[in-house]
Amino acid sequence: MPTDPAPGPGDLRVGQGYDVHPFAPGDAGRPLVLGGVTFPGEAGLAGHSDADVVAHAVTDALLGAAGLGDIGQRFPDTDPALAGADSLDLLGRAVADVRAAGWRPVNVDCTVVLDRPKLAPRRQDIHDRLSAAVGAPVTVKGKRPEGLGALGRGEGIACLAVALVVADR
Ligand SMILES: [Zn+2]
Repeated sequence: MPTDPAPGPGDLRVGQGYDVHPFAPGDAGRPLVLGGVTFPGEAGLAGHSDADVVAHAVTDALLGAAGLGDIGQRFPDTDPALAGADSLDLLGRAVADVRAAGWRPVNVDCTVVLDRPKLAPRRQDIHDRLSAAVGAPVTVKGKRPEGLGALGRGEGIACLAVALVVADR
């Protein structure tokens, strides 16, 4: 059986996404962007695009659910056109690919592993921005790494996402 057969009526698929970015301490002007929401005064993450670790995990979960590979294949970090890219735009383009392949996102749920900043005050904004980009509910939870490893030392932020899609034809 092929890994990505055309969807049949009522078919469901799940996809998993994971991403991690280190902070960019040498670049004080770089904004921190999580789920399309900027956190003023917080250190930014290093990356080729805007390093939105949440948007990237959501993108990978959706591409995986639809059998469309991963974000690195779809948006190579060697592409100069993607330097500083708005990751919500990339997410929107990936969602268009998912839909073109015959799948409709049902929902996405994320866990963001980080010591700071606190997500709770901006959680609704993140939900709203990601849900608008995906065209389906996207929920986000913050989880502290409890001092363990690089994330516990506050060296970066990781995000896990799971997406459900349903056949749209
Ligand atoms: Zn990333």
